[in-house]
Order: sequence, then structure tokens, then C-alpha cells
Amino acid sequence: MASIFSKIAAGEIPSYKIAENDRYYAFLDINPVAEGHTLVIPKREEDYIFDLDDDEYAGLQLFAKRVAEAIKKAMPCKRVGVAVMGLEVPHAHIHLIPINKESDMNFFGDKLSPSPERMKEIAGKIAEQM
Ligand code: AMP
Repeated sequence: MASIFSKIAAGEIPSYKIAENDRYYAFLDINPVAEGHTLVIPKREEDYIFDLDDDEYAGLQLFAKRVAEAIKKAMPCKRVGVAVMGLEVPHAHIHLIPINKESDMNFFGDKLSPSPERMKEIAGKIAEQM
């Protein structure tokens, strides 16, 4: 069965899309730890990021770099933090999170719940910078 992220990349499940090309897709995390928290995935389904072959892995990182640059321009922050965990959704993904201090990368506290309108607005602001 296709992963939820494969369905998102295929447009079968809605997402707040930031950018895509033929191989990669970026969209807002639905339970962000900070506004602008974005996930970057390969469209091809692979559970564990380090099982991607070198070419697909390098392409994912380069795509994530471009998305991170757009996040930095769109969302006021000192840095864009990067995290990979992948214990919840079995489809490789990179978390990109606008941060001002290390504790902003907090996956264990309360998540934000921006309204759909706000999520749309944030996705639009970041997408504009791509
Ligand atoms: P992890 O697998 O631990 O790296 O976490 C998976 C992330 O995917 C979490 O931050 C979730 O909030 C996020 N997530 C799960 N389902 C969706 C979805 N349908 N749209 C956007 N983000 C999602």
C-alpha cells in the first residue's frame, strides 16, 4: 500500500505544497513545531533515507537546500534547522524548521495548530521564494 506521503506527492491527499519537481516534493508539516516547518520527500517511496541510492539522496539534499533558502527568505528566523527521524511515517523525509534558538527544534513539546488559512498563507509565502 502506498504511504501517506506517496499519496500526497501524487496529489491524492491534499497538502500545503511548497514546491515539486519530477523527483521531489516539499510541503508543510501538518503538526508544525514552528511556523514554516516543512517536509521534503522523494516522490519514489523508500522508508529509510539512507537506503536511497547516492544519486537520489544527493538530489534530495540539493532540493532541500533550495527549499531551506526559500524558507529563510519567507519566514523570519536565524537559521533553518534540519532533522531526519522517520519513525512515524515510513517514507523518507527531511524536516526543515525555521529556528532562532536550539530549543526551537523541539519535537517533544506541544505542536502548533495554525488555521488552514494561515497554513495556506505560509505555504504561499515560501513557494513565492522558490
Ligand atoms: P517522523 O516520521 O517522526 O519524522 O514524523 C513525521 C512527520 O510527518 C510529523 O512531523 C507529522 O506531523 C508529519 N505528518 C504526518 N502526516 C502528515 C500529513 N498528512 N501532512 C503533513 N505532515 C504530516
